[in-house]
Amino acid sequence: MKIYNTLKKKKEEFVPIEEGKVRMYVCGPTVYNLIHIGNARPMIVFDTVRRYMEYKGYDVNFVSNFTDVDDKIIKAAIEEGVDASVISERYIEECKKDMKAMNVKPATTHPKATEEIDGMLDMIATLIEKGHAYTAEDGTVYFRTRSFKDYGKLSHKNLDDLQGGNRSLLVSGEDQKEDPLDFVLWKPKKEGEPYWESPWCDGRPGWHIECSVMSKKYLGEEIDIHAGGEDLVFPHHENEIAQSEAANGKEFAKYWMHNAFLNIDNKKMSKSLGNFFTVRDISEKYDLQILRFFMLSAHYRSPLNFSADLMEAAKNGLERIITGVENLKYAIGVTAKEQADEKEKELLAEAKGYITKFDEAMDDDFNTADGISAIFELVKFANTHGSTDSSKAFLQGLLDEIKLLCDICGLEVDKQEELLDEEIEALIEERTAARKEKNFARADEIRNELLNKGIILEDTREGVKWKRA
Ligand code: AMP
Ligand code: ZN
Repeated sequence: MKIYNTLKKKKEEFVPIEEGKVRMYVCGPTVYNLIHIGNARPMIVFDTVRRYMEYKGYDVNFVSNFTDVDDKIIKAAIEEGVDASVISERYIEECKKDMKAMNVKPATTHPKATEEIDGMLDMIATLIEKGHAYTAEDGTVYFRTRSFKDYGKLSHKNLDDLQGGNRSLLVSGEDQKEDPLDFVLWKPKKEGEPYWESPWCDGRPGWHIECSVMSKKYLGEEIDIHAGGEDLVFPHHENEIAQSEAANGKEFAKYWMHNAFLNIDNKKMSKSLGNFFTVRDISEKYDLQILRFFMLSAHYRSPLNFSADLMEAAKNGLERIITGVENLKYAIGVTAKEQADEKEKELLAEAKGYITKFDEAMDDDFNTADGISAIFELVKFANTHGSTDSSKAFLQGLLDEIKLLCDICGLEVDKQEELLDEEIEALIEERTAARKEKNFARADEIRNELLNKGIILEDTREGVKWKRA
């Protein structure tokens, strides 16, 4: 399996630190609003990387954080007149709902920055002790960038270029710094902001230190893969490397993976430019499986332009696969023939070739675009060779292959079975009984369960009526 490693600027064979195991960290969102579909790209892409590695037999420890202390969260909290935790908790929950709807698996651990402050205090203290950080008069702690000789190795920037030419890359106005390249590890509180006590001042952590600490706590000092969008290469990931390697004295991550941007009119989709759609916006028009399919139809390192036309194309593409699956299921239901004959056995062996093709595409730096082409070819093969005259074993073999490949991509192509009328009536009866016993929680649960399956309840004087949406 080859992975393009930003650190080396080339594809490299993946060799895990510990055989059979993958330790992977993906920088998660700052939770002050609903996530937009640009934020969804790394979620979908790296969830697919994880699924493929699991399919290959690796035990993947997948950690992705929520940044729940940040200027934007504090601003939103002030605007609403609530505590910052109200904002972050609300949008963590909303983000998890979106992830579920996009079929993104929950991480092994989803740490939150505010719950990891002790680890940050420890790492900052170590950095000060080792001479890699210092405290300014107001209590701000800065990382001494020039003390880390490998600074710039990920973004392939050299310190003097940063210092001289491109001043826009520097944080300005912090005259207490020894050097403009130094960055904040801990900053003093401002009135009305959340803060924690520290040996240096009451305050809060800088953004970069969070990930160094959470990665170390949940995955160890050396990890296999660290990932995120390409805007994180500099300064976020560069600073994470400096902090972790200076503190731990070990290589932080072996492979650095970065997805390209999701664009609109060839500009990065972002909250600040205002050119974004939230995942929730898209869910009003499309099943989010279609959004997932759209994202995977491009290679993760290629920029992807979002447009209504491409979403329609994704919808049609996914529909083709779902129809293929439905046809196979129908044929399995009606055929009388059980066992595969010799010809069918040969065809099944031939169909395995599409799995090989899919694997080859994915082994080449997770080329999901070519992987999806292999799925299309397999569906076409199934449409050509499978019919109501085929054997159940043959049809099932084809169906299993299609579902296997779709599952690796996190695409649900098995349409939900409709609830039977009797099942609906039974649930309504249970709900009525629950209400009589004043068990409103259960009653609501049943109503929601039915709603999720497209059944709408109406409480009338004559009793409960229902209809299909
Ligand atoms: P943020 O909440 O801005 O820190 O972003 C969370 C994740 O989404 C990071 O990995 C970003 O790199 C990624 N991201 C943000 N906007 C885009 C975009 N337009 N396209 C692809 N990835 C993005
Ligand atoms: Zn991070």
